[in-house]
Amino acid sequence: MELMNNNRWESYIRRVTPYVPGEQPKDESIIKLNTNENPYPPAPGVERVLRNIDVDRLRLYPDPTIGLLVDELASFYELDKDQVFVGVGSDDVLANAFLTFFNSDKPIIFPDITYSFYPVYCDLYRIPYEIQPLDKEFRIVKEDYYKDNGGVVIANPNAPTSVYEEISIIEDIVSHNPNSVVIVDEAYIDFAGESALSLVSKYENLLVVQTFSKSRSMAGMRIGYAMGSKKLIKALNDVKYSINSYTLNQASILAGVEGVRDWEYYNEKIQNILDVRNESEKEFRRLGFSFPKSGANFLFVTHASIPAKDLYEALKENKIYVRYFDLPRIDNYLRVTIGKKEEMDKLFDFLSKYIESK
Ligand SMILES: *Cc1c(COP(=O)(O)O)cnc(C)c1O
Repeated sequence: MELMNNNRWESYIRRVTPYVPGEQPKDESIIKLNTNENPYPPAPGVERVLRNIDVDRLRLYPDPTIGLLVDELASFYELDKDQVFVGVGSDDVLANAFLTFFNSDKPIIFPDITYSFYPVYCDLYRIPYEIQPLDKEFRIVKEDYYKDNGGVVIANPNAPTSVYEEISIIEDIVSHNPNSVVIVDEAYIDFAGESALSLVSKYENLLVVQTFSKSRSMAGMRIGYAMGSKKLIKALNDVKYSINSYTLNQASILAGVEGVRDWEYYNEKIQNILDVRNESEKEFRRLGFSFPKSGANFLFVTHASIPAKDLYEALKENKIYVRYFDLPRIDNYLRVTIGKKEEMDKLFDFLSKYIESK
C-alpha cells in the first residue's frame, strides 16, 4: 500500500541533530584514548558498596533528593546542602541547567571551539546562541563576554582544546555579567588549577558543574553535580522534579558517596596521570607534534606535516582510538586521552614507526 504523505505528525516532531559521543568499542584489545576516561579504577570503597548492595532495597524508589550524596558533596566542598544539585552525569546537569536558566530571547554566548554538546542543547530547547571565537592560541577573549546576552557558558579547562584559564579570567567574565547566569563546566578541573567554586559565595548567578566521570574514574556510573547559590539550585530542582523525580539510581547514590570520600586515592591517581602527561608531551614534541599547554587528562595535538585525519585513521586501523573532530579550525588536531604508561608507550611506538615511514 502506498504510504500517505498528508499526515502532519511528522512535521510536529521536535527535530534535532544529536551530539555524537566517542565510540565505545567492544574489542577489549583496543587502546582507548578517545573519550577522556580515567585509566585507573574507582576508589576501593566504590567496589565494596557495589558488592554489598541490598538487592531487596531495589523494590523501592531511590531517594528523590539524592540526600546522601548531596550531603557528602556539600561537606567535601564546604557548602550548604541547598547549594548542591546532582544529576545523571554532568551532561544531564548541563541539559537541566540550559533548560532552567536560558529562557531569555537574547542569545547565550560560548566559545566557537568548546564542548560540542552546548549547541545541541540550544537547538533542542530553542535557545538562541552566538559563538565567540577563541584567539589563535585557543584562549578566551574576555571582552567578547562583556556584551549583552541571555547567558554564558564556559568550559574550564576547555574541551577539546585542554586550555585552562586562570580564575581571574573567569571572575572577570562573571563580574561583567550580573544579569546572566554564568555556567562554568569544570569536567577537568581536578587536573588543572583553582576551581571557580571559590567565587560561588560572591556571585549568586554563577553555577559550577563537575563530574565523577574523569578525575573520579566513574564514567560508567553517570554522576554529575552543580554547585551554586541556593536560588540557582532551587530553580534547577524545580525543573528536575518537573521531568523525572528519581534521577539517580540506588547503586549510583551509594557508589557516589564512596567516590567522594576517598580523595587521597584519587589524588594519587591524578598525580600519576599528570606524570604520564608530562612524559607524553616530550614524546609528542620529539615526533613533531605541537599542542596548547594542557590543564586536563588529554592533549590536543597537531603534527607539523601529517594531516590529523590520516593519523586518526592509521591509529584506528592499528587498534588505537583517539578523537578527531572534522570541524572548522580544529580539523588538523587530535584529542588524545592520557592513558596508562603502557598504553602511551604503544601509542608512541606506533607513531614513531608511522611517522618515520612517511
Ligand atoms: C566529559 C565532559 C562532560 C560530561 O561528563 P559526564 O560523563 O556527562 O559527567 C561535560 N563537559 C565536558 C567539557 C566534558 O568533557
